[in-house]
Amino acid sequence: MTAHDQLTELRSQIDEINMQLLDLLSRRARIVTEIGKALDELGSKHYDPAREAGMLQELEQANKGPFSNETIKALFREIFRASLALEEQQARAKIQVQRKSPDERTVITLPDGVTTIGNGNFQLIAGPCAVESYEQMDETAAALAARGVKIIRGMAFKPRTSPYEFQGLGEPGLQIARKVANKYGMFITSEIMDKSQIDMMNDYVDIFWVGARNMQNSFLLRALGGINKPVILKRGLAATLEEFLYAAEYIVSSGNPNVILIERGIRTFEKWTRNTLDIGGVAVLKLESHLPVVVDISHSAGRRDIAKPLARVARASGADGLMVEVHPNPPVAMSDAKQQLSIPEFNSMMDDLAALG
Ligand code: PEP
Ligand code: MN
Repeated sequence: MTAHDQLTELRSQIDEINMQLLDLLSRRARIVTEIGKALDELGSKHYDPAREAGMLQELEQANKGPFSNETIKALFREIFRASLALEEQQARAKIQVQRKSPDERTVITLPDGVTTIGNGNFQLIAGPCAVESYEQMDETAAALAARGVKIIRGMAFKPRTSPYEFQGLGEPGLQIARKVANKYGMFITSEIMDKSQIDMMNDYVDIFWVGARNMQNSFLLRALGGINKPVILKRGLAATLEEFLYAAEYIVSSGNPNVILIERGIRTFEKWTRNTLDIGGVAVLKLESHLPVVVDISHSAGRRDIAKPLARVARASGADGLMVEVHPNPPVAMSDAKQQLSIPEFNSMMDDLAALG
């Protein structure tokens, strides 16, 4: 056998071993998946450092060279890491709100059959912080409708910091909001506090709304999974994006796929804005989830004088819309007086957005 023939023969042995290793690695990965399922059933964690250390020790004892123990351990650690990554990928694939392909998107269509959120258009949700009177809602709705806004805030239950502050008008507030919305051909969104309110609110509301303080109220989220109206879910005051998506998962996995996420700023050390608008988070949510994402430029800022730049940022971020508070006379508003836009300010913001094209 010539040296050349020998080389060809040895290389073909290597090729064969590579194929065997590939087959073994694939078999191993399939078994790891089975183990993952068994661990899920037991409610146990997938990563088990003691088990990993035990396997490495056995390999070390069995190793007869020529690779050093350190090399063998490094190679197997890499295999363990790849297996864990595979399990994590499989666990993520099970999460319904997780985007499975780049073009997957949830499009929410409102009862007129033409108003949509999540379809690539930029949707406006606007209205006062709270319903205060028929006149206040009527004046606001007229101004919003004139700019093509289809979804109006009809907030009748206000989760205030102090129990001594205005708590909302309750059901009479919903009656006002419904009357005004019907007059201008608009849809109402309104915050629900407790699952006991679902039946009553169902008579008035087109889109249910879960506020930041209730984002992790899993009983409420599950109950909203059982209705056939869309749900707007706001990010909690200090919720991570993962917690936010798991909250959405409660609703979706309970049967209601029509969830809209709202980034409303998170608590940080910053004082000059009420919260810190996490615009990077909006981009990540759009990447990680197929649900529509809307940016609340009012509660994230707590001030009206930066509405225009924030609206521009929201639009540029790839979000599906923005939420802004508008009141006919903000200084006398019964809640969030500092951040609500007057009607001229709202119009000016709309002109600014329109100029962006
Ligand atoms: C709201 O948007 O009406 C509201 C109360 O905001 P948040 O839940 O984000 O504080
Ligand atoms: Mn408010």
